[in-house]
Formats: sequence, structure tokens, C-alpha cells
Amino acid sequence: MQTKPSLSQAAIRELTGQKRLYLPDEICRSVQDIDIERLAANGYKAIIFDVDATLIPHHIPQVTSEVYGHLRRAEERGFKICALSNATDPERVKSLEDALGMKVMVARPKKPNTQGFMQAIDYMSVPTNQIVMVGDRVSTDILGGNQWEMYTILVDPIPSEAEPWPLTAIRLQERYTHLTERPLKPEEF
Ligand SMILES: [Mg+2]
Repeated sequence: MQTKPSLSQAAIRELTGQKRLYLPDEICRSVQDIDIERLAANGYKAIIFDVDATLIPHHIPQVTSEVYGHLRRAEERGFKICALSNATDPERVKSLEDALGMKVMVARPKKPNTQGFMQAIDYMSVPTNQIVMVGDRVSTDILGGNQWEMYTILVDPIPSEAEPWPLTAIRLQERYTHLTERPLKPEEF
């Protein structure tokens, strides 16, 4: 499902002088659609990724070659990258780090709480306005990143039959509430 807000984050900032916290700066179909070159040209130095439904299907540690390749391209372009997950059990972290080829941090308390983000920001060691936050959830990844003045990118979730239906429903509700200006048609759910 691709939804589009009627006003961009940049337009809202121009009107109000601040970011709308639940609105991403950009919406992409997937991680591999993120334009690394443009982010670099705009001065961004680091990218924090959500894990479940953003880099891998929910709780399934399988990274596609497209996602893996895009992460490596970001590193080759000079980006520091890491992952920050709400759902990840500490025992899952090592195998995820091996699969993704990068540091995975567990957010406790969960995103959008500031504690997890502070860990990731410490690790990145660059100002937060040079950090990009990428995730599939408006109320955790996007809100959390916007609170720190990061550039936020919302991606469509990677489909997974393992995802509990309440989580799928909550994600749709968040997007409906914060990103749409009209009711969704049944076929769009
Ligand atoms: Mg997620």
C-alpha cells in the first residue's frame, strides 16, 4: 500500500517552522529504492534502519540480495549504518548482525522512546540532522526519527505471513490516520 500525504514535510516546515512529527520526509517502496546518492549529496552521513518488515520479513532472518547489496552500496558511499529494532530479542541479535552485516541495537524502552535512539546516535557519532531514519512504522520509526530532527523515510512493509494480524492492522491504522486525506478503498488494504 502506497499512501501519499497532501503536503510534503518540507512544505509544512516552511508554513509552521517545524516538522510534523508523524509525517515522513520521504516515502519509498522499499529499502533498495532509497536514493543513496541523493542522500549523500544532501549532506547525510549515517542511516539507522528498522529491522522487522523494513530489512527482513517480520521475525524471519532472511535478507534478500537486493537489500544486502543496497546496504553495502550505502557503506561504500561512505555512510555509517546500523539497525535499531523494537521487536528483536537479544538472542536474535548476533544472527541478525551476521545476516545484515551491521550492528543491530535493541531499543529498550521501545521506539519511539528516546533511549534506544540515543544508543544509535552515540554509535553513529554524527549530528542528528545528518542522520537518516528508515522504517515501516509511522508511530515508532518516523516519530522517533523526527523527534531527533533526523531525515525520515517510510518504506512499505515487507509482506510476511508470520506477522501477527494486530500489528498489520495497527500499521494500516497509523498510515490511514497520518498520511491519507481520504478513506482507503477495500482493495487498498
Ligand atoms: Mg518494523
